[in-house]
Amino acid sequence: MDHPQQFDVIVIGGGHAGTEAALASARSGASTLLLTHSVDTLGQMSCNPAIGGIGKSHLVREVDALGGAMAKATDAAGIQFRVLNARKGPAVRATRAQADRVLYRNAIREQLLNQQNLLVFQDSVEDVIIEGTRVAGAVTRTGLRFLSRAVVLTAGTFLRGKIHVGLENSEGGRMGDPASVGLADRLRELCPRTDRLKTGTPPRIDARSVDFSVMETQWGDEPRPVMSVLGHRDQHPEQRCCWITKTNERTHDIIRGALDRSPLFSGVIEGTGPRYCPSIEDKIHRFSDKSSHQLFVEPEGLTTTELYPNGISTSLPFDTQLALVQSIAGFERAHITRPGYAIEYDYFDPRDLKHSLETRGVQGLFFAGQINGTTGYEEAAAQGLLAGLNAARQTRDQVAWEPRRDEAYIGVLVDDLVTHGTLEPYRMFTSRAEYRLLLREDNADLRLTPAGRSMGLVLDPQWQHFSQKREAIEQETERFNTTFIQPNSPAALTLQSKIDKPLSREYSLSDLLRRPELGYGDVAALAGNAVDDEQVALQVATQIKYAGYITRQQEEIDRLQRLESTPIPEDMDYATVSGLSNEIKQKLEAARPTSIARASRIAGITPAALSLLAIHIKKHR
Ligand code: FAD
Repeated sequence: MDHPQQFDVIVIGGGHAGTEAALASARSGASTLLLTHSVDTLGQMSCNPAIGGIGKSHLVREVDALGGAMAKATDAAGIQFRVLNARKGPAVRATRAQADRVLYRNAIREQLLNQQNLLVFQDSVEDVIIEGTRVAGAVTRTGLRFLSRAVVLTAGTFLRGKIHVGLENSEGGRMGDPASVGLADRLRELCPRTDRLKTGTPPRIDARSVDFSVMETQWGDEPRPVMSVLGHRDQHPEQRCCWITKTNERTHDIIRGALDRSPLFSGVIEGTGPRYCPSIEDKIHRFSDKSSHQLFVEPEGLTTTELYPNGISTSLPFDTQLALVQSIAGFERAHITRPGYAIEYDYFDPRDLKHSLETRGVQGLFFAGQINGTTGYEEAAAQGLLAGLNAARQTRDQVAWEPRRDEAYIGVLVDDLVTHGTLEPYRMFTSRAEYRLLLREDNADLRLTPAGRSMGLVLDPQWQHFSQKREAIEQETERFNTTFIQPNSPAALTLQSKIDKPLSREYSLSDLLRRPELGYGDVAALAGNAVDDEQVALQVATQIKYAGYITRQQEEIDRLQRLESTPIPEDMDYATVSGLSNEIKQKLEAARPTSIARASRIAGITPAALSLLAIHIKKHR
C-alpha cells in the first residue's frame, strides 16, 4: 500500500476488550479500525461460556448503560439466566447467564459489522509505529501500515502466550491460536514493567458420554432475568439445564499422584494464577482437608454436545485429566473432546497507566483487558469501552472520561489497578466497592446513561427508553411520597394481614414501603395503580427502602469529592514537599496520583502526609 490508510483510532485485538473499545470509539464519532488475528474469532469466549456473576454483572450492566455490546449479545445468546444472591440485599444481587458460544460470537460480530465509522481487518499486528513520544499507527505481519492518532492495545492472553498440558508446552495465544511474540517484544521496549500471569481451562466433555441421572439438575430462574436494558425475554434462545456433580477422594488421590508431572507444582509455570478461580490441583493442595469439590456441568451451546465442567480447570497431563474426570459421578464413561490447559502470558504493570487507560510512557497508546493484569470477559469489556472512548476523545482534544469509584464499578476497577497494581489476575467483586449500595447492577443506567449520552455513546432508541423509565420512576416516587393511607380505611384493612398491628395514624405509601415485611406489590395498589414495568417498580422500591443508607453514603462521597477536587499538578515534584518522609515521597512518585483523593488510596499514605501535600499544592498554585 503506497499511502497507508489513516484512522483516528486503531484497536488491536478483537476479544472482549477490543470489540467494546472499537465500538465505543466508533459510536463516539471517531473513524476506527479494528485489527485482529481472525474475523471468525471476534468476541470468542476463551474459557467458560458464561457472562455475569457477582461483581461482574455490575460491569456488564455499566457497559450496557453506556451503549456497549456485551449485555445485548448475552440476551441474544443466553441459554440459562439466573440471579445470584437473590435473597441478599440489592447491592450484591447479580445476574449470570450461560451463553451459547456461537450465538454470542455472532451477536458481537453483527454489532461490529453494523457499526458506523468502524472497519475490521484481519491480520496479526507485529509492531506499533512511534513518532517522537506519540504512537502513530500499527504494522501488520504482511507489512501493511495503518496510521492513527491513537492506538488501543487489547491482546489478551496472546503476548508471548505459552500453553501447558502436563510438562509439555508450546507457544499459543489460546488453544488453536498463535501467540503474539514480535509485538510482545516491541511492547516490552516501550513499557518495560511487565511480568507473567497464568490462567487455565478445564477439559471439555461430550454430553453423549455422560450419565446425567446421577447429577443434580439446575434450571434457570423464573421470572427469567434479562441482561440489557433493551433486552426482552422473548428474544432469548431456547433455555437449557445445567447439572451439579462433585469430585471425591479417588479424584483427589489421582491428582495428588500426578503432581510431579504438574507444570504448576514442578515450577515450569512461573506466572501467578487467579486466586478465585484456581485449578483443581491447586484447590486440592490448598484445601487438603476437603474431601470433595462441587462441579457445575454447563452446556457450551445449543448446537454442540460439548460440556464445560466448571470447577476442574487443570494443566495436568492428559492421561491424568482423563482418569480424574472418569472418577467423578456421571463421568465414568466420559469422552474428553478437548484437553484442559494452562496459559502463561505477559501483562503490563497497570500502575504505568493513567486513569484514562492511556500509558504514561507513550502518548496516545491505551491498554485494556487481560494485558492490564485482569481476568474475565466483563473486566476486559469494561476497560475496553473506557479505553476506546478515551482514545477517541483524545483525538478530538477532549478531556478523558474517568468515572469515580462512587459512580461506577468501572471506576473502582481502574482505580484499583492504577493505584495498587496487581500481582495476580484481578477480578471484580462487590466487596471491592466501598459504595456498594449506590453502585447496584439495577441502577447502572441511572448512574451512567446520561454521561454516556453526552459523550455520544448512547444512541437514540436507548436514550428514549431511558428517559421514559427515568420519568416513570420520578412520577411513581412522587406518588408514593404524596399518597396517604388513613387508619381504618379499606386500604388499611387490606394491609392488616401483612402487618402485626393495625395502622394507628396516617402513613404515606413510602412510609409503608420502608417496613421490612412489605414490598412494592403490597403497597403500590392500596391507592391508585401500581406500575407494570418491573424495572421501574424495582427502582422505586429500592430507593425508598434504602433511602437512609443511600443518603449516608452520598454524604461520605460529597466529603471525598471535596478532596477529589484538589488536583495534583502533573509535573508535581514530590521531593520539594517539606515534611514528607522519603518512603512516602517514593510511593507518590511511583504512583503519581492526579488528585489528593487518589493519593489517599495509595497504601501507606497517611492523613498527615495528605494534609502536607494539600498545603504544598495550595501554596504553590
Ligand atoms: P482476549 O479475549 O484474549 O482477546 C484478545 C484478542 O486479541 C484476540 O482476538 C486475539 O486474536 C487478538 N490479538 C492478540 N494479539 C494480536 C495481534 N498481535 N494482532 C492482532 N490481533 C491480536 N477468565 C476468567 O474470568 N476465568 C477463567 O477461568 C478464565 N480462564 C481462562 C482460560 C484460558 C485458557 C484463557 C485463554 C482465558 C481464560 N480467561 C478466564 C480469561 C478470559 O478469556 C479473558 O479474561 C478475556 O478473554 C480477556 O479479554 P481480552 O479482550 O483482554 O483478551
